Amino acid sequence: MKRFSCFIFLLSALLLCSCGKSDKPKLTMVTEATFPPYEFRTGDKVDGIDPAIIRHIADTLGYELKIQDMSFDSVITAVQSGKADVAASGITVTEDRKKQINFTVPYVTAQQVVIVKDNSPIHTTEDLKKYTIGVQHGTTGDLFVTKNIKEPQRFANGALAVTALVSGKLDAVVIDGEPAQVYLSQQTGLRLLPRPLTSEEYAFAISKKNVKLLEDFNRVLNEMKANGLLDSIIRKYKEQNTETAADLLVEDSKYFWIGVKEAFELNFIKDKRYLYLWRGFLVTLYISFFAVLMGLVIGFVVALIRSTAIQTGRYKIPDFFCRMYLTVIRGTPVVVQLLIIYFVIFGSWDIDKVLVAVIAFGINSGAYVAEIFRAGIMSIDKGQMEAGRSLGLSYFQTMREIVIPQAFKNVLPALGNEFIVLLKETSVSGYIALQDLTKGGDIIRSQTYDAFFPLIAVALIYLAVVIFLSSLMGKLEKRLKENE
Ligand code: GLN
Repeated sequence: MKRFSCFIFLLSALLLCSCGKSDKPKLTMVTEATFPPYEFRTGDKVDGIDPAIIRHIADTLGYELKIQDMSFDSVITAVQSGKADVAASGITVTEDRKKQINFTVPYVTAQQVVIVKDNSPIHTTEDLKKYTIGVQHGTTGDLFVTKNIKEPQRFANGALAVTALVSGKLDAVVIDGEPAQVYLSQQTGLRLLPRPLTSEEYAFAISKKNVKLLEDFNRVLNEMKANGLLDSIIRKYKEQNTETAADLLVEDSKYFWIGVKEAFELNFIKDKRYLYLWRGFLVTLYISFFAVLMGLVIGFVVALIRSTAIQTGRYKIPDFFCRMYLTVIRGTPVVVQLLIIYFVIFGSWDIDKVLVAVIAFGINSGAYVAEIFRAGIMSIDKGQMEAGRSLGLSYFQTMREIVIPQAFKNVLPALGNEFIVLLKETSVSGYIALQDLTKGGDIIRSQTYDAFFPLIAVALIYLAVVIFLSSLMGKLEKRLKENE
């Protein structure tokens, strides 16, 4: 009981921490920050043309700006579901998107272009049909290629597609013109096809329900166009990006020839990139720890209800709900559950994403823990229960004093296994834009275009935690055995 209250206390503390206060109303912008010069990361911050414009608009309208980095194919859903107020991510205005959300007045024109390797046999759009094309999932580049050329390979962001092109996994990448220029200046051995595929306009996306915000945005945007501020922001970031790109170029041309030490430095030391892994690691541990606790509590209660119902025929209705819970949770992928909890159930709540993840993984794990506990309880010989009852103990007393302690010992290995699975499952947290360990590695990958070091580092960290966890469970098992 004591432990249970402790858990409730920790959970409420977590809830309280997640509701920060400020006097200004909040404006949440969502973006996908591997799209330079429109949005990119510098250290912990998201910077670029879009954040700069939105920051000015937020200041003018008296909002406190909050920026969230998520996958591009989620930014419009985030606005539509009320999770965010505005999506600013180099978003092209299209008729289909207009059915889902409202667009502000456009702020820039753009094009889809084709990047190929210098020595590529591809010279015209016609040539593309015979080759493997990479795109960023859900972008207008993706739509264009799918509709007019062929089925492309879809990547989570443009940087990953370019990495695949550089390492020979693709023959061409279709992407927006400005980011293409930046990628080209950061990587040697790439060129653009002379003719762009499309001509488009970017605008910011706002929910159809928020007409007032749309009007406010349009008013400030038009002012920024008239007084030249918009142009100067765009110019500033374009110049800045080609300058930093030139810095990278020197290192990158050497990159293939230098040893492991320098690759290590580029991936982890430069710009303190190891911090992405360290902070991600903490987030992963935090989510896993609280989700395990929550899963244990849910699992224990459900197992108790279910085994009592099976053994005594009582608690028919709670048992029915428990069975429903087990069926639904075990019958659907955890990443879908996470997305439903984030976008649908907490759709219009301003709730901390870490808490959402704890709830999603906790509820998910609870279902598996419940069955593990139930198996444990049912494995205890019926005679034990009968013996307890004939000594005058009640059903629950016998459970508590005799059955559960033995059951717990029996299920310990299975429980340990469930914790390990849970820890690794949290690696899908990136889907709701949480920066866990896996996402930390992804961010490094998108900045250094190196797949090897970030992925191996992430894998080694998970492995180390799992080995540590296994040895802990082993020790606990031994202790319990000695106590027998
Ligand atoms: N402009 C493209 C689109 O709207 C790509 C945007 C992006 O990748 N951030 O689909």
